[in-house]
Amino acid sequence: MSVARQARYPVIAATHSRKKPLTVTQLKTKLLACDAFGITRAAKLLNSGKTVAIPTETVYGLAADARSDNAVQKIFDAKGRPAENPLIIHLARPEDLPRFARAGNLAMSLAGRFWPGPLTLVLPAKENSGISRVATAGQRTVALRVPAHETARKILGAFGGPAAAPSANLSGHVSATAASHVLDDLGGRIDAVVDGGSCDAGIESTILAVEADTIQLLRSGAISAEDIESEIGEKVLLGSGTGAPPAPGRGFAHYAPKTRVRINADRPGIDEIWLGFGSNAKEDSMNLSKSGDLSEAASNLFQMLRIADKLAIESGSAAIAVSRVPDYGIGRAVNDRLRRAAEGRKDWQA
Ligand code: AMP
Ligand code: MG
Repeated sequence: MSVARQARYPVIAATHSRKKPLTVTQLKTKLLACDAFGITRAAKLLNSGKTVAIPTETVYGLAADARSDNAVQKIFDAKGRPAENPLIIHLARPEDLPRFARAGNLAMSLAGRFWPGPLTLVLPAKENSGISRVATAGQRTVALRVPAHETARKILGAFGGPAAAPSANLSGHVSATAASHVLDDLGGRIDAVVDGGSCDAGIESTILAVEADTIQLLRSGAISAEDIESEIGEKVLLGSGTGAPPAPGRGFAHYAPKTRVRINADRPGIDEIWLGFGSNAKEDSMNLSKSGDLSEAASNLFQMLRIADKLAIESGSAAIAVSRVPDYGIGRAVNDRLRRAAEGRKDWQA
């Protein structure tokens, strides 16, 4: 975690992560520090087929050995994730890519420019790469990413293999950007969580399907389509009909708090918790970014949704009202998550 990041959000991080004592059920999950001991322990747990939540620069990921059907199945069970929703495979080093996927020039230049970092590439899978078909949900493609977070890279390096790691939250719920969020959702259901503080980007990776000379955006995320286009000099296709494989998980409910979410609001109703943006805010309520910075809004989004949900439940409020957020750059990823949050929760149980 950068110093700037620590300084920017001290109040919320402190309130949220330290106030509540852990319950007995949560204590069944080991809480590891992100020091040399914690990293070695996490790698050993992964090597023995266990599930370990790890910090990344996007959100916390729930990792397990991607080569083991049994270990990967534990991720699906802990999250309550539908079996048809494939997992992103995390690698320690960009050089590992050719072991798992067939990558042409375009995919190689995307990996060369954005890895390590919050970009996931969906590519034709290599046969006999050893990745479990449970992890890829039987797709002929595989989603790969090399995270930039120092602790994540050290754990992956010490583990020495590919790790499947979806977001470390109950399926359908708001993603986790702090170890305390992971424990709130998955405490007692997973073997360990490595506490690396709060996540810098705070929103998931951008997912691109790359086939021959086309790039299709499957999920907007921490790197904007505009940035990818300007770096690579190729168009990122936003619509369907490109022949690229769909992202199966996009059809499922996501990011929903218990409380109803109302988006693109001009102001809060009398019985609503207000989540403002920029100057569309109230002095005494939460603001995704006072200065109207979209990266800061992305970084605050999930933890503020979790806090707003708790406040709404405690105060009996009817909804969380969220200000309109500009729909360009990282704002597109923020609006994508907010739209899905507003579609409502399905059947996750926190
Ligand atoms: P999560 O890990 O919860 O952030 O979600 C990962 C996303 O990656 C899901 O929406 C999946 O559908 C998508 N994904 C993973 N593997 C593939 C694949 N082989 N093809 C297309 N999308 C994928
Ligand atoms: Mg997720």
